[in-house]
Amino acid sequence: MPPASPLLDDREGPRDECGVFGVYGPDHDVSRLAYYALHALQHRGQESAGIAACDTGGYIITQRAMGLVNQVFKEHDLRALGGDLAIGHVRYSTTGANEWENSQPVHRSAGSGGNRRELALAHNGNLINAIELHSSLREQGVSFTSTSDSEIIAAALSAHPAGTIEDAVAAVVPTLKGAFSTVVMTKDRVVAFRDPAGIRPLVLGQLGDRYCVASESCAFDIIGATRLRDVRPGEMVSISEQGLESRMVSGGEREAFCVFEYIYFARPDSRMNGTVLQAARGRMGESLAREAPAPDADLVIPVPDSGIPAARGFARVSGLPQDDGLIKNRYVARTFIQPGHELRKHGLRLKFNPLPEIVGGKRLVVVDDSIVRGNTTRQIVRMLRDAGAAEVHMRISAPPIKHPCHYGVDMSTREEMVAHGRTVEEIAEHLGCDTLAYLSMKGVYDAVRGSADRHCDACFTGNYPLAGTTDANDKFALERSLPVIPAGTPTLA
Ligand code: SF4
Repeated sequence: MPPASPLLDDREGPRDECGVFGVYGPDHDVSRLAYYALHALQHRGQESAGIAACDTGGYIITQRAMGLVNQVFKEHDLRALGGDLAIGHVRYSTTGANEWENSQPVHRSAGSGGNRRELALAHNGNLINAIELHSSLREQGVSFTSTSDSEIIAAALSAHPAGTIEDAVAAVVPTLKGAFSTVVMTKDRVVAFRDPAGIRPLVLGQLGDRYCVASESCAFDIIGATRLRDVRPGEMVSISEQGLESRMVSGGEREAFCVFEYIYFARPDSRMNGTVLQAARGRMGESLAREAPAPDADLVIPVPDSGIPAARGFARVSGLPQDDGLIKNRYVARTFIQPGHELRKHGLRLKFNPLPEIVGGKRLVVVDDSIVRGNTTRQIVRMLRDAGAAEVHMRISAPPIKHPCHYGVDMSTREEMVAHGRTVEEIAEHLGCDTLAYLSMKGVYDAVRGSADRHCDACFTGNYPLAGTTDANDKFALERSLPVIPAGTPTLA
């Protein structure tokens, strides 16, 4: 399916991350907590948003729609979604013929489509054995209404004969392969679990004497919750009137947390594996300045916003002054109306505007966090030269991206990546900059105080941590392989 907006698709880096949240809190306004938590997680998905809420023992009500969190939910929606427990989800949803059907939370009602228990589910990640699971469930009489792997997990849990949701999770998780940080809600509890490699983040928080879970700790800050710890790889936590229960439901995989979360995805004020990301990104910039100095440059500028902390780090170590040479319009969303013929030639100026007074006549070091296809970087270089820059030296605080992600991030195809089949010199020539240098993988690990044996860095190195990962595991795998069986299953408000 073509991207929603070619112009803005070129502008963006990797996509298709999701954000999840869940809370058990009978003494709280849970749908409002979910709304604000999703607002804090908006950077992880900007095309659809959804909340499911429930009174203990009552009916699960789900509302989901295309759009930003504040476009999807109004005051009256939150009132209608009142209850004792809630989960929420934000998503990019370029997958599938029907975007709405693939939005979340997924809701499975009991008594139809092979379901035994009612539940709602929100998932961040990508299953690499979705086709096999889908076939096996269909053989058991389970039906589907979407082409999302999230519905497969929801269906497997809903159809499972175990007496409790916790036992169903313990039985189903070992059959899942891939990345899954998942939040499930039944009528009286929220259960969250993480794949045994812990590829996508999931963190546990406390709100008074109640508990909550979220993709990132920034979701806790906004609702006044305290971050307790990461949900462990392979762990399930169940939060209910009985408090917190923890159980290991799978294991044996080596840990493989996504290193790109530190570099780009997660918010700089989130804490992951014991480090606040703003500081880690600053250290990446410092390492970059040591590995690839630009001694004759006059000024360091970031590509806003994601290049800002690394540019500061680069300036700190190099001793060069730093300024804002590019101003970003922060209100350009992917739902933006197409610019049309007349405005298209101004291209990226819809997003970035260079300041000739700052960059004119200067030998610039321009710091960004990553380059995928290179279209944006190429336009930025041209824009800076047009604004009078004497030289443009690109410095990237991550290694070249050369391989697709099969664990929940849309990285484009190999052929679309600017680093595919090119040397660094050839990339520099393609981008039109005077010099180009990338931070090494070691530089990234030093900055995050981690190591390759506990992380996934496959989009940089091609070393996929999970056995059985192939290019056939992309997000369209299910659509290519199987028809969608319509069913009267999910009931959505
Ligand atoms: S391939 Fe890249 S983006 Fe995907 S999980 Fe691994 S490090 Fe993260």
